[in-house]
Amino acid sequence: MGIKVAKFGGSSAADVIQIRKLREIVEADPDRRYIIVSAPGKRFEEDNKITDILYLCYTHMEHKLPYDQLLQVIQDRFTSTAVNLGADVDFAKEFDVIKQNMAEGCTKDYVASRGEYLSAKLIAAYLGYDFVDGADMIFFDEKGRLLEEETNEAIKRELANHERAVIPGFYGTVAGTDNIKTFSRGGSDITGSIVARATGADVYENWTDVSGFLMADPHIVDNPKPIHEISYKELRELSYMGASVLHEDAIHPARIANIPINIRNTNFPDDPGTIIKAHHEDKESNDIITGIAGKKDFTVIGIYKNMMAREKGYARRILGILDDFDCNFEHIPSGIDNVSVVVSNKDLDGRLDELMEAFEKRLEPDHIECFENMSLIATVGYGMNRRKGVAAQLISALANANINLRMIEQGSSEINIIVGVENKDFEPAIRAIYDAFA
Ligand code: ASP
Repeated sequence: MGIKVAKFGGSSAADVIQIRKLREIVEADPDRRYIIVSAPGKRFEEDNKITDILYLCYTHMEHKLPYDQLLQVIQDRFTSTAVNLGADVDFAKEFDVIKQNMAEGCTKDYVASRGEYLSAKLIAAYLGYDFVDGADMIFFDEKGRLLEEETNEAIKRELANHERAVIPGFYGTVAGTDNIKTFSRGGSDITGSIVARATGADVYENWTDVSGFLMADPHIVDNPKPIHEISYKELRELSYMGASVLHEDAIHPARIANIPINIRNTNFPDDPGTIIKAHHEDKESNDIITGIAGKKDFTVIGIYKNMMAREKGYARRILGILDDFDCNFEHIPSGIDNVSVVVSNKDLDGRLDELMEAFEKRLEPDHIECFENMSLIATVGYGMNRRKGVAAQLISALANANINLRMIEQGSSEINIIVGVENKDFEPAIRAIYDAFA
């Protein structure tokens, strides 16, 4: 028998109807043996995610405000779903424990994690699968970093005793303690990926409410084409630049074990979705690009100095200053006598004048200038390195759309061309690039 790890996101665990679909999917393939679940998400647009209500409960608890009613909303939701599904879970008892722990002053992560915990209890009972707690096999260090190898071994050990199990996503414990620690938001995707790695799964299925990745953001481009296959590397570039669906950190565990990730739609289970794997198999494909993604709100600081190219350690000094400001750089495109640094406005945190002053003082440039309100757009695809003239095509697409190109950079891997445009040109630039290549 093979092994498929299937992770169901909040929308797939939101209510009775969705959980019935989940069961149909699980039962359709006996290889779907390890099921990871998120906390119930929104049932309709104005609804609240259980995790958000739990964070609110914690804020109330922290400020010594009453939270009983909020907790009751959650308890009622789980209880009525269980009754309607005919799943036997003693939620009254579960909530007594949670209330007791909260009264004794538990941590924020503990409270937040209860959404996944209760969701897994419910779905395990409904499927007739074992419940296995992530707290017993996913470990973090005191700084909150995942202990990858210890976790991998512990999952292998624990799941060897369970042929079929439901595991709550999103959390584990600090090693050697009982303290619950969560991943960042959306982190159930990571749990799924590490379970897939540890069990040596044939595939990691990530069931959500979209049929995989699209070539561009559908809020910007009308009806973008779906991406059937994408490599881990391409996806990493696109997610870093803002394409969401899968948590950025969920790629790494599956990638090191060479396990394909398949993004699927719980509402349209026959759609093949997107397969993410090491390499495109489709060598015949004529697609030049795989996808386009981007982010707004960057600042580009251009530093010019005559004979800069001959001065040793100039770039190191620039980076040293950024380090002093605890500021990451996104890119450093350079010319002969100039270097530009691209930093996000979030990282700058209102300190642009201070940073410019430090550059002036410590680098003594001939000239320094900055462009605020810039966007970065990544055009990603393995097909690019097999073709000539892709950058030229991209630049003319932008020029034809009357968009001023402020920066262009291509990494040596040749799977990504990044352009910088003004924020106001962000959406038209993405549309122009899409129309040129899709
Ligand atoms: N429930 C958590 C969140 O809303 C984790 C997850 O769904 O992956 O962020």
